[in-house]
Amino acid sequence: MTTDEYDVIVLCAGPVGENVADRVVQAGLIAAIVESELVGGECSYWACMPSKALLRPGAARRALVGVRGAGLPGELDVPAVFARRDAFAAEWSDAGQVAWLEGAGIALVRGHGRVSGEREVMVTDAAGASRRLVARSAVVIATGSEAVIPGIDGLAGARPWTSREATSAQEIPQSLAIIGGAWWRWRWRPPSPTSAPRSPCSPAARCCRASSPSPASGWPLPCASAASTCAWEPRSRGSAAMRTAST
Ligand SMILES: Cc1cc2nc3c(=O)[nH]c(=O)nc-3n(C[C@H](O)[C@H](O)[C@H](O)COP(=O)(O)OP(=O)(O)OC[C@H]3O[C@@H](n4cnc5c(N)ncnc54)[C@H](O)[C@@H]3O)c2cc1C
Repeated sequence: MTTDEYDVIVLCAGPVGENVADRVVQAGLIAAIVESELVGGECSYWACMPSKALLRPGAARRALVGVRGAGLPGELDVPAVFARRDAFAAEWSDAGQVAWLEGAGIALVRGHGRVSGEREVMVTDAAGASRRLVARSAVVIATGSEAVIPGIDGLAGARPWTSREATSAQEIPQSLAIIGGAWWRWRWRPPSPTSAPRSPCSPAARCCRASSPSPASGWPLPCASAASTCAWEPRSRGSAAMRTAST
């Protein structure tokens, strides 16, 4: 097993880790950054960047609709919206960010890291090989977060989307049942003829009821009770616009 020594070891290469490592190097220290997936973390590939890329065409279209004299925009070009999102997510390649690390003088160690001792990190790569990293000054933990699937009976088996699946989707689902009310409180907009049918579910069922249009309209039905499965009434609609399931 090899052992390498750095001034600072940063776990891992999301936006926080990249910024920390950059500042460490700018201060004249030697930094290594450990990453098990893509350099850039959630933000670049499954969160900020692709979600905003997906939302923007619909928002631009809505803005145009509100401008008198601007004329009516056509339907969203769904494949083009996806292609634009793919470009913003760099086609899920971190080559550009790896090049940035190299330019900044930050060493990249690929693999899963764990703190194995005082100022010591053990990294296991995809082939199972281990590498011991020792920090002269500090180990920085910036491992971010990941989506948690709530413990609702049958939910895990239904292969629910998290923000990752929503932001990297390659086609529009026939319908969406959304669990989690906060997004709805803040992001609710009236349905448009180009939206995929959605049904919000929230432990705060009052929130769903207050913000959803009448079920008589055929639009999302509020949950009957906390943590219930969604009541769902499919509507026959044409093609749908981009809307991610969460932000
Ligand atoms: C849908 C969505 C939209 C968002 N939009 C915005 C936005 O518009 N603006 C905004 O400011 N924020 C937004 N956010 C929040 C933003 O994505 C996060 O705040 C940000 O990604 C956190 O950065 P981070 O570096 O802490 O963690 P992360 O980006 O999660 O990066 C952590 C990295 O650590 C790696 N890792 C974890 N454990 C290990 C380990 N043991 N060994 C090796 N590697 C490991 C992971 O692979 C990952 O690459 C959004 C989030 C979501 C879900």
